[in-house]
Amino acid sequence: MARAARAPAAPAHLPDPLMSVDLLTWYAERARELPWRGAGASPYRSWVSEVMLQQTRVEVVRGYFNRWMLALPTVEDLANAPLDDVLALWSGLGYYSRARNLHAGAKVVVAAGGFPTSFEGWRALPGVGDYIAGAVCSIALGLDEPAVDGNLERVLARVHSHPGGRAEITALARRLLPAGRAGDWNQALMDLGSSLCGPKSARCEECPLLAHCGAGREGQALEFPLKKAKRVAPARVAVGALLRRGEAVLLGRRQPQGLFGGLFELPGALLAEADPAADPELHPTDREDALRSALALAVADGAGLRLGVGALRGTVDHTLTHMRLQLYVFEAEVLSGAPAARVDGPWDTLRWILPSERASIGLSTLATKALDLPLRPAQGTLF
Ligand code: SF4
Repeated sequence: MARAARAPAAPAHLPDPLMSVDLLTWYAERARELPWRGAGASPYRSWVSEVMLQQTRVEVVRGYFNRWMLALPTVEDLANAPLDDVLALWSGLGYYSRARNLHAGAKVVVAAGGFPTSFEGWRALPGVGDYIAGAVCSIALGLDEPAVDGNLERVLARVHSHPGGRAEITALARRLLPAGRAGDWNQALMDLGSSLCGPKSARCEECPLLAHCGAGREGQALEFPLKKAKRVAPARVAVGALLRRGEAVLLGRRQPQGLFGGLFELPGALLAEADPAADPELHPTDREDALRSALALAVADGAGLRLGVGALRGTVDHTLTHMRLQLYVFEAEVLSGAPAARVDGPWDTLRWILPSERASIGLSTLATKALDLPLRPAQGTLF
């Protein structure tokens, strides 16, 4: 298959062969011991770990990865697992589309009779971009592929006093790869970028690349890569109903696609930006009333339940990559209608969930925060 859509031509920086020697020597002495490395490396383990590591720190991933591998040790186990179980294992890691894509990708792999053996094959799996494909191919398959994430981009931009940019740095990385050692080379740069050459500090005097590094030698490490103007994520308002039956709470599982897809949440809605109830200029009392009405309407439309919406229990702030959310949680009761499985609303099922079931369902971090709001009067948390 052609590689036409790959990175453009590399900038005219000359590869420095001694840089690889110094980097790989440092890595041989200092490599982090991680459960998906060394004897623990395989296409499946490498893939799962790289997906988990996107947006999440190594220390957090370690525990999730070990639990995942105990529950789903093979790609066949993952492909055959119910999505609810997969999302429950992912619960708390955030960015749940990653788990849904892993699940869908495992089904593709099993249907194909095995893992892809090329960059392009990996790239074709759901949710696998250039970085993950490059990382798995180089680490688990021994292919000469670069794997440029934010760490590698930063380190190589500094070494070459380059302004940065994923495509140009990827092309540069491809030129620099030592043949047959791409996996170690990529992982060495990942380790260097997360230990010595950080976004906000660089310990150049301890760095094995100092003799090869333009920015390090000039004392300009933090000048590279050039900073991009930061975009402020828009703020959005959401409403959620806290409906109780004894110890159980009514939760809805979102349809598989879209924001929080497949995860359980309080019945409610993300309000449109133009919704009058989301107007920050409203007087607080008017606003609460408007939010109550919006919540009752959303649950009537989405679940066929008529609610009596009571006191505001509290608010939860939550930041996603593309928006900041403020969730208003109201005490509520069902006045008419019965929760049921639905296929055409925002949720595909509504269920009364007991505290003991909480750990076994996929629950978004936002919903977790909402359920952990203190009781009124303060008596601990709901679960
Ligand atoms: S010498 Fe400094 S800037 Fe260059 S790679 Fe090492 S830590 Fe980063």
